[in-house]
Amino acid sequence: MNDEEKTLSRLCEELSVLRQKVAELESAAAIGRKQNLKQGVGEEPFRQLFENIGNGVAIYDARDEGNDFVFRDFNKSAEKIDKISREEVVGKSVQECFPSIKKFGLFAVLQRVWRTGVPQHHPVSMYEDKRIVGWRENYVFKLPGGEIVAVYDDVTREKQYEEKLKLAVRAIEQNSATVVFTDRDARIEYVNPKFTELTGYSAREAIGKNPKILQSGQMPRELYEELWQTILAGKEWQGEFLNKKKNGDLYWERASISPIVNDHGAITHFVAVKEDITEKKKLWDELVTAKEKAEESDRLKSCFLANISHEIRTPMNGILGFSALLKEPRLSGEEKEQYIALIHESGKRMLSIINNLIDISRIETGEMSLNPGTTSINAVLENIHACFNKQAQQKGLSFSCEIGLSARNSVTVTDKTKLSQILSHLVGNALKYTSEGEVVFGYKKNGEMLEFYVRDTGIGIPRDHQSKIFERFRQVSLDATREYEGAGLGLSLSKKFVEMLGGSMWLHSTPGKGSTFYFTLPYTGFSNSKAQSEKDTEKEYSQFPEGVTILVVDDDSISRLLLKGVLSGQRAKVILAENGKEAVEKVEQEPDIRVVLMDMKMPVMNGYEATSRIKEIRPNLPVIAQTAFADLDESKAARDAGCDVVLPKPINSEELLAEILRYV
Ligand code: ADP
Repeated sequence: MNDEEKTLSRLCEELSVLRQKVAELESAAAIGRKQNLKQGVGEEPFRQLFENIGNGVAIYDARDEGNDFVFRDFNKSAEKIDKISREEVVGKSVQECFPSIKKFGLFAVLQRVWRTGVPQHHPVSMYEDKRIVGWRENYVFKLPGGEIVAVYDDVTREKQYEEKLKLAVRAIEQNSATVVFTDRDARIEYVNPKFTELTGYSAREAIGKNPKILQSGQMPRELYEELWQTILAGKEWQGEFLNKKKNGDLYWERASISPIVNDHGAITHFVAVKEDITEKKKLWDELVTAKEKAEESDRLKSCFLANISHEIRTPMNGILGFSALLKEPRLSGEEKEQYIALIHESGKRMLSIINNLIDISRIETGEMSLNPGTTSINAVLENIHACFNKQAQQKGLSFSCEIGLSARNSVTVTDKTKLSQILSHLVGNALKYTSEGEVVFGYKKNGEMLEFYVRDTGIGIPRDHQSKIFERFRQVSLDATREYEGAGLGLSLSKKFVEMLGGSMWLHSTPGKGSTFYFTLPYTGFSNSKAQSEKDTEKEYSQFPEGVTILVVDDDSISRLLLKGVLSGQRAKVILAENGKEAVEKVEQEPDIRVVLMDMKMPVMNGYEATSRIKEIRPNLPVIAQTAFADLDESKAARDAGCDVVLPKPINSEELLAEILRYV
């Protein structure tokens, strides 16, 4: 019971003692002075008491065998409570003065008391008619002379207060926020049902405890110190806690804690109103991360644009600059060769950037597909070693390749082109970022997987950058004073490729000492096409057969010339055709043709139609298609037309020769 309730109940007790007294006095007065009473409460000091008592007192005479009651007297308090004067009621029927008396329930009480003589209490009820409205509590008794007395109170204010109190209690009980009251010493006195729902502690478990039972131990001590300082100073504290439920789960809540002061301004309690913000916090954190990511990605894109323009301009300058120099008539043979080599290098660098960009956009649009086939891992590694050996020598680095399986066992099914791209990239980076020491790459079999590694003794990568370098456009040094070339695409692409192939990529690195990049690929071992793959492997090392006739179909004279150069270098006999129509005619005329290299986009008759016609004439004549962008649709269209192999342009001569070898 709180203070106000206690006061209320004390008042009620005092009132009932008073009523008792009044009743006794009235009885005495009635017995002794029946005559006087006939004109009202006449005799002093009872008249004084009747007039001055704080309760309303009405005296009635029964009429018509108790079917009506007429006012005999009405005291001052009654006049005040019912807002009607004594003169207005005396001699009149109670029903006339108070038309709702029956509905109110008092009329029946008057009748019962008149009939039985037993005093009755008419509990707090609301009286309402056109004139007045209010809550009343009545005590009714019968005087020995037969008069009926009603002693009553206007309890409207108490009732309103009680209603307010009830509402407040309901608001707390039904609140979606957690509400906790503690005493001044922080002992819990009350918790609402939401508290139990959220924390798992029942009211019985919580009451008497300190709210510390909820502490997760993960909030700084200063936070609690600040909280206590604030609330003890009489102010409200607001803040957030990471708290712990009874079952150990953690949750975030936003709390508002304030002191409750009594009439003298002293703190008696504290009230905490808290909201579970775990979900909100999670959402917020996600939003912040997303925002940071977006900003970071924006920054990376700006860096990327700056880098990429530099990356493209540098080789373009090389190509244009040295090709202009080549026109110089007084150049020595050695100089020419040097310039040509530089142009070639720059071209390769340009191509690699363009390829990376195309691959990235294909991955983004979900168009990147795999082209798995029987692959000799050893051959791929040896090829990479051969490609990078010169570069390593020029830098004075020791460069070696470690083969993990025999040539026979190193055959597995994977996408050879992608594997070559991944290894080229890692080995290229290792050589780029190493100025002395060694670069070693290789693989070993590890259970069902092949584990590849590329180890260098280069600059290494700081720990905080190790996961970031796999993000697109990401380089360890992003500023303008970059020491190393690169667009920051290679590693992210390589990692994506590895994942597409069913493996994973990671690294170990110590700044200043070097890095080792690892990746795995599933090892399938000998496939069904065992015989074929062994044949392939052997062939990769064998010589290109002399004098084999190859038809090269391309509308672009430079491409034709280039292919002729590559194939003639292998002592092949090359027949050229400028469009599909010419190609079909050549096939009809030259039965010696063993392989056709077909460009797909050509005037007069395109490669698709030409291939279909050729396959009608010689179904077993292999056709190798070359397309500028060997995307899925184009590859499929070429295969549908009858092409046996689809190679992307620009043609990698080694890849081309290897494919031709499969058919001759
Ligand atoms: P880039 O084309 O810039 O080399 P990558 O995606 O290949 O892009 O590499 C991202 C960054 O990772 C590089 O800019 C470099 O800072 C770092 N990095 C990659 N490989 C190595 C390595 N072997 N040693 C040191 N740092 C490396």
